[in-house]
Amino acid sequence: RDAHDRHPRPVIELRHVSFGYADRAVVRSIDLDVRPGEVVALLGPNGSGKSTLVRGLLGLTDQLGGEATVLGQPLRDLSERYRIGYVPQRHTLSGSVRATVEEVVAVGRLPHQGWFVRRTPQDRRAITESLELVGLAERAGDDVSTLSGGQQRRVLIARALAAEPDLLIMDEPTAGVDEASQRVLAEVLRRLTASGRTLLIVTHEVAALRDVVTRIVELTAGRVSFDGTPERYAEHRREQIVGSHPCPPTDPRTRATCRAQAR
Ligand code: ADP
Repeated sequence: RDAHDRHPRPVIELRHVSFGYADRAVVRSIDLDVRPGEVVALLGPNGSGKSTLVRGLLGLTDQLGGEATVLGQPLRDLSERYRIGYVPQRHTLSGSVRATVEEVVAVGRLPHQGWFVRRTPQDRRAITESLELVGLAERAGDDVSTLSGGQQRRVLIARALAAEPDLLIMDEPTAGVDEASQRVLAEVLRRLTASGRTLLIVTHEVAALRDVVTRIVELTAGRVSFDGTPERYAEHRREQIVGSHPCPPTDPRTRATCRAQAR
């Protein structure tokens, strides 16, 4: 266990991996290692391949090349998909679902549940702990349709957590919810981080998750265009803006001098 902690095996290992649709590679020959406990924000413009990468890791898009190992197994024959938790994008629970918060979360643990499925004490504990982690233990018995959009996101996070996954992938967890809910979600993510879970978060709102994320991976046109700490990413962005701009918007006097020189 000690040796394992000192040299933890990557949760995700990609070597020249391509993912795509039919024969068209969208994610093209990328290398990526994610280690246990890392909290990775996956950034990039629309169409850069973020969802394709995530769907590839979930076995939902074709692997068109390279070597992919997830949770120590080749992705192509990963048998324990349940060890990867997934919180889908812009998903709320529609009003047509008549279920309690607790019932929805339990599905994450026992997908084929019914009155005949016996819950073990471990199942009950995992479900309760997931609800506590997202701060909805008090709402366990309420109909999910009575919850706000932000609260429903948290139910979906709890549903994914109930399976006790070794890797949790979230697609835009903070998108489309109000600022107060964003703060609560960021706090939930902070708690997940503190508990040592490995997270891969697709997001546009990296500012909201500033103190949660340990690493940023940026995709551009299907390739990794940045991989490093949030601090280095801020520099990278600044350089990109300054680099493409002859007179950066800094001190107005500097800018005036710059303009004069550029003439
Ligand atoms: P992002 O998540 O960064 O916005 P996507 O992975 O959704 O990017 O899309 C990247 C590219 O993959 C786009 O050019 C898109 O047209 C293509 N694509 C996405 N989904 C499919 C699909 N189901 N079939 C074919 N092409 C797809």
